[in-house]
Amino acid sequence: MRIVFIGPPGAGKGTQCKRLTQMLEIPHLSTGEMLRGTRKESALGRIVSGYIDGGRLAPDYLVMRIVNKRLLESDCQCGCLFDGFPRTLNQAQMLDEQLAIKNNRVDLVLDLRVGQEELVSRLLKRASIENRADDNAETISARLRVFFTQTAPLLDYYKGQGIVRHIDGTRSPDEVFAQIRSCVQATKPKHG
Ligand code: AMP
Repeated sequence: MRIVFIGPPGAGKGTQCKRLTQMLEIPHLSTGEMLRGTRKESALGRIVSGYIDGGRLAPDYLVMRIVNKRLLESDCQCGCLFDGFPRTLNQAQMLDEQLAIKNNRVDLVLDLRVGQEELVSRLLKRASIENRADDNAETISARLRVFFTQTAPLLDYYKGQGIVRHIDGTRSPDEVFAQIRSCVQATKPKHG
């Protein structure tokens, strides 16, 4: 099964993705983590850091290059969970094209919903715990703006495919996961 997890920064995607990938035994593809990983490669890393630290999206071609390479690996052949990807309509269309090469498709889109005020307070709390350079007040508001202008419209694209399920992210982590589990159990993966 191929699942896209959409949610604004601070909605609790990371925690839920971990639980879901354990339950389904599929790989967890977080483009945020992949991009942070490139920071060790000096030239590419410097370019990527500029985007991440400014709370701006990395260019689609760069993200697609990393994702497409990862999708060729053997553990991704039976499915995966996309976390933080796609983030633009262009990425969503390129992902569909890439999956279609092997007669695959996105089976389910989880839309994790949390109000903006709650998101800001969660992110500021996380900043003090994890010391992430992109979790300061200025970058947080840039990332939320990017989410609501560039990523949220993706939901309409996927609604057109009839595969979006809404999740109330304000509940406790266990209750959120229960909602996710029932959406997953109600989904039949399509192939070919
Ligand atoms: P995340 O860990 O998902 O919150 O991502 C951290 C940062 O990485 C984002 O604020 C973007 O700068 C960058 N990023 C992650 N995923 C993508 C993506 N799919 N497209 C563009 N930029 C991304």
